[in-house]
Amino acid sequence: MLKKNYLLTPGPTPIPERVLSVLGSPIPHHRTPAYQAVFAEVRKGLQRVFKTDQPVLTLATSGTGAMDASVCNLFSPGDEVLVIVAGKFGERWVEIAVAYGLTVSQITLKPGEAFDPSILKAKLSERPQIKGVLFQATETSTGYRLPVDQVCEIARPYQALTLCDAITACGVYDLPMDQLGLDVLLTGSQKAFMIPPGLAMLALSSRAWEAAKKSTLPKYYLDLNRERQAQIKNDTPFTPSISLVCALRESLKMMEEEGLEELYKRHDLLARATRSGVKALGLEIVSACSPSSSVTAVWVPESLVKQNTGKLIPKIMRDELGVAIAGGQDELEGKIFRLSHFGYCAEFDVTTALSALELTLYKLGYSRQIGAGVSAALQTFAEAK
Ligand SMILES: *Cc1c(COP(=O)(O)O)cnc(C)c1O
Repeated sequence: MLKKNYLLTPGPTPIPERVLSVLGSPIPHHRTPAYQAVFAEVRKGLQRVFKTDQPVLTLATSGTGAMDASVCNLFSPGDEVLVIVAGKFGERWVEIAVAYGLTVSQITLKPGEAFDPSILKAKLSERPQIKGVLFQATETSTGYRLPVDQVCEIARPYQALTLCDAITACGVYDLPMDQLGLDVLLTGSQKAFMIPPGLAMLALSSRAWEAAKKSTLPKYYLDLNRERQAQIKNDTPFTPSISLVCALRESLKMMEEEGLEELYKRHDLLARATRSGVKALGLEIVSACSPSSSVTAVWVPESLVKQNTGKLIPKIMRDELGVAIAGGQDELEGKIFRLSHFGYCAEFDVTTALSALELTLYKLGYSRQIGAGVSAALQTFAEAK
């Protein structure tokens, strides 16, 4: 059978044809009025998505570069931060903070465990020296959506800065930075923004910029003050990711043509359809307590875990059927798999993923019947019309 490839992973995500054609165009030089006009447009578009009056900076790094930058620009050696660790990307916050010599306390959630606001409150009152609360809006490794509004509300009276990794949340659902009182909102290009990897975007609140003035941690390439001074004049200290910025102008245009509210509704619907499909197959969702709209993590059925064939689900789907999804990472490998449904995704990406999943589960001996998952997803779409 012809193998047609579909990319349904939580980053990189599929790139729309309109964006691909921009990427295939000649590259402008960055110190020209033509490029600076593109950059100005991108900066404004990002402000509208972030819903902030602050400048949104772009960095020529992957998303992790923005996480790194926000730690080394806001804190000083020995400062204490609190990380809400709901999975692998929460662990990354810890690793970055430790690498910079910060003292780290943690609130750790097991896969599927819900965030308890009272624990955060208790930690912050016990340890008034905590200068920042670091978390993921969506923990991609477990498909968990954290209540960002609650985190901000609790942190506010303690004067702790709130640093939000929204790499699989920004552009998926509304995260109005200024209104929420977030001090750092950061994201990456290869997720909801539908362009290739290599560009990070982040904004700092005025409080965070104040903290940045006092920070004494070492920084050179990721010095945000220097970036800000240049970028507010539509310039950059170093060579920017010119092609990615041009691509981002096109993808931001697409997002605004769809309308941000419509785009958020689409993601919510795709996520609901995916969940109903998965449940109809008798499978369980990892973060059922608060599932993310970008990626759905699913427990591998017990019978397949016993046969040690859980790892084969993403492998068969990709290698034999051409549908790339994500497996579990580290200790979750073989225990979960993740279906992604954000960025350049619509109804038939969901049904494609479910179709391939059903064929794979059939092959592995889990199910004898075919079609229940796809049928449930289609039902969700039909009812939404
Ligand atoms: C993808 C992702 C990252 C890592 O971004 P890179 O671009 O790979 O550096 C960090 N946090 C979350 C929540 C992600 O989904």
